[in-house]
Amino acid sequence: MESDDNHYQGSKSPSQTQLAHAGRGADATGALSVPIYQTSTFEAPTAEQLARDCVASGPAQLYTRWGNPTTAALERAAAKLEGGERAVAFASGMGAISAAVLASVTGGDHIVAGPSLYGGTTELLNDLLPTWGIQTTFAATPAAEAFEAAMRPNTRLVYVETPANPTLALTDIEAVAAVAHQRGAQVVVDNTYASPWNQQPLSLGADAVVHSATKYLAGHSDVISGLAIGSETWAHQVWMRLKLLGACPSPHDAWLVIRGMKTLGLRVARQNATAEAVATYLEAHPQVERVHYPGLTSHPDHGLASRQMRGYGGMVAFEVTGGRERAQALTDGLSLIARAASLGGPETLAVHPASTTHAHVDSAARRRAGLADGLIRLSIGLEEPGDLIDDLDRALSSHRRGPSL
Ligand SMILES: *Cc1c(COP(=O)(O)O)cnc(C)c1O
Repeated sequence: MESDDNHYQGSKSPSQTQLAHAGRGADATGALSVPIYQTSTFEAPTAEQLARDCVASGPAQLYTRWGNPTTAALERAAAKLEGGERAVAFASGMGAISAAVLASVTGGDHIVAGPSLYGGTTELLNDLLPTWGIQTTFAATPAAEAFEAAMRPNTRLVYVETPANPTLALTDIEAVAAVAHQRGAQVVVDNTYASPWNQQPLSLGADAVVHSATKYLAGHSDVISGLAIGSETWAHQVWMRLKLLGACPSPHDAWLVIRGMKTLGLRVARQNATAEAVATYLEAHPQVERVHYPGLTSHPDHGLASRQMRGYGGMVAFEVTGGRERAQALTDGLSLIARAASLGGPETLAVHPASTTHAHVDSAARRRAGLADGLIRLSIGLEEPGDLIDDLDRALSSHRRGPSL
């Protein structure tokens, strides 16, 4: 499963035993699977209690935007999984990210962010926050020194995605946290790509973690959801923003995420192993110029990945010879692997970022981020590795012979 040359130093990694019992004990009836409290509101026993709940400064059994028992069960399981004091669940990853950022900075503050972030996060930082007087500088590279160089006296937040989308470049969380804390800034890590199974940012010194739970945590391509996890004090500020900005999850969606979390370790360990097999196959293929996978010794951050991550993850990117058109033709030639955005589900997905997820980024900025025109991103699913390799092999050889090329 996890590679032999992995020197992972994390001590508080989640176990599949803990995950199998996620959400257990949340209900007075003893229901083993947490019930879905599909209700918008809650009846109070007395007028006085209702009055107290309405002015409560934290989640109360009052109204589902404030809090809900199914959602609370997810929040407890997620806090435990990331080793944080408290989690707040959201209707989407972007809901969690926007509330987490707005809980960490205010008008006049400055953010330092990694050079290659999720598209929605980039737009939030670039387009929306400046209208409220919050400026962001993107580090020139994913190295800790580049984050340090971008810091200003009013930097309050350092925002990290590692491994980054789609090039899988790594940032040293421990080194960035040391620099940020010296300057009085908080560190928030988007841990979606790695998943908590492979990486534990809080144990490496980060102050908070955000997730698109849509991806590995829920794991079945059937729900949009998000989580923010950190200290009690910070999570309270996040919850206040949830209550006012309104991205609260539906109880049914919270239940789907708990259900997915129960098998997180099984799925991710399998995805780690299959991704490594696919990356190794691609690296040996003459039509492939370069493979980006932190588990390969050819990856520039392989050493850091082995210390910082328990497994190297289920995301693989590769550059095909012939650039953009051939990459698009190759993606068209796939049949088992689905052409789709998103990641972390049972089905292997392929996208060509230059024409899809990163089409809005101009070509100079794409090159700066190391995003080649011929790059294809794979989210490895739960299929047999041999079937995935056969599909890629067929697409690579037909694209070599294809008459339109
Ligand atoms: C998908 C994703 C998001 C956004 O999450 P949604 O659930 O789609 O809102 C944020 N960060 C990363 C790394 C993602 O992959």
